[in-house]
Amino acid sequence: MSKALVIGAGIGGIAVAIRLARLGMEVEVYEQSDSLGGKIKESVHAGFRFDRGPSLFTLPHLVDELLDEDLRFTYRKLDLITSYFFEDGVQLKAYADPRKFAVEVEQKTGVKASKLLDYLKQSERIYRLTAPIFIFNSFHRIRKLLTWANGLRALQFFRLKVFSSLHQLNAKAFPDPRLVQLFDRYATYNGSNPYKTPGTLSVISHLEHEQGAFFPKNGMAQIVHSLAEQARRLGVRFHMQAPVERVLVNKGQLKGLVVEGALQLADVVVSDVDIYQFYTHLMPDQKRVRRMEKLERSSSALIFYWGMRKSFPRLDLHNIFFSEDYETEFVSLFEKKEISDDPTVYVFVSSKENPDDAPAGMENWFVMVNAPENVGQDWVEMNRRTRQHILTKLNRMLDEELEEQIVFEEQLDPVKIEEQTGSFHGAMYGPSSNSLFAAFYRHANFRRDVPGLYFVGGSVHPGGGIPLCLSSAKIVGDMVEEKRRSL
Ligand SMILES: Cc1cc2nc3c(=O)[nH]c(=O)nc-3n(C[C@H](O)[C@H](O)[C@H](O)COP(=O)(O)OP(=O)(O)OC[C@H]3O[C@@H](n4cnc5c(N)ncnc54)[C@H](O)[C@@H]3O)c2cc1C
Repeated sequence: MSKALVIGAGIGGIAVAIRLARLGMEVEVYEQSDSLGGKIKESVHAGFRFDRGPSLFTLPHLVDELLDEDLRFTYRKLDLITSYFFEDGVQLKAYADPRKFAVEVEQKTGVKASKLLDYLKQSERIYRLTAPIFIFNSFHRIRKLLTWANGLRALQFFRLKVFSSLHQLNAKAFPDPRLVQLFDRYATYNGSNPYKTPGTLSVISHLEHEQGAFFPKNGMAQIVHSLAEQARRLGVRFHMQAPVERVLVNKGQLKGLVVEGALQLADVVVSDVDIYQFYTHLMPDQKRVRRMEKLERSSSALIFYWGMRKSFPRLDLHNIFFSEDYETEFVSLFEKKEISDDPTVYVFVSSKENPDDAPAGMENWFVMVNAPENVGQDWVEMNRRTRQHILTKLNRMLDEELEEQIVFEEQLDPVKIEEQTGSFHGAMYGPSSNSLFAAFYRHANFRRDVPGLYFVGGSVHPGGGIPLCLSSAKIVGDMVEEKRRSL
């Protein structure tokens, strides 16, 4: 039986372990920390349960397809995806049903419902043209992509004229700045800047409104619990608190891993580690490191986990409190490497969906603002200042005195994200997508010159976020299967 070793038990690592075990391989996963799931983590304090990382679950079939029938968990399709609050007092409810959302938009902003429906149709067209090439395949295997179907897709894609920025695309589509801001926000789903990232990112709004947003019954951590159980059932062995020190390659031939000074031989090695850290520590390569340092990183996050003494009927599961000047926010994030004084605030309250996540009558708030990558800023001061700005903003927009309601508090910032998951500079999604060519600069899922060495996870192709990490695992699983068949 041939042996596969996986480095890192983030969602990409666990998913690829399942796929390789299903091919009949003996699979072992080495994880440096004491928990599975990497950025997908939960914690429980004083009766409050918090999902500490991801909160939005899209394309759940990518998880289902990894699980045996009896291990599949329940998740609910959200009717109301997000409640958007604007400083002028308007509150827009983004319903999953495009028609219902369009009616809400027309009633609250006066923008014709048809404008929104046309926009979502265009996003769907872009999704259909780009997903097979950029999301569900390795476009680093050019020969595989040279098909008639992809040729036709490319032709149609050029006709769509989406080479402007997401912001330019949205400003052209909507006469109301609030809607422009709402649809610009999708750039932040992969840590990018709407004023720079290409209009193709509008596909995310299609995913949310046409395919749906979901929430697992026991919270986001359930995704990891179920995948880990599946992996164990297939015989995958997890080694915890076992940092991999090196990947050994001799004259282009993969040998295995070094863990605690001992060599572990392998036929296949898959890294789920941030690609920059991989080439800095595990397989040092100064040329690649220097090249990667030139790539702009995605944004990070500053999160406050607040246990709240009471419940807030105006809030839903996902809530956004927009800044007044979105462009200034992104200049702060990507150019000044600061958090602006009026940041857009995301409040996620899982106890709205799962009442057990907070003591009776109370709520668990996950309060997040986008933060710059860590380049050595004074985070103690920036966190303190931002906390005050968030409280002032939410108090004003909700007409509350929130500080009195906080009975439990913890924080996560870019420094801790880097320490806990090894993400370079704490960037949440690896390199940013702030240019038309960003997708081409991402590291491939394999190394042509080192057969048997593969890469998954948010810092390599096709990118960050749960669905894309799962896609990277599928691409690698398929490549390993193809290779084994050809032997
Ligand atoms: C705050 C936050 C909010 C997010 N929100 C969403 C969301 O709502 N929806 C969504 O889809 N995505 C979201 N994401 C992104 C998503 O969480 C990530 O893209 C995804 O979880 C990354 O998975 P990964 O496979 O790249 O591994 P990671 O989660 O990055 O894990 C890598 C693992 O490798 C381990 N490791 C590192 N070095 C070594 C070594 N030398 N030896 C052994 N192990 C090692 C680490 O300890 C870690 O466990 C969010 C991320 C964050 C941080």
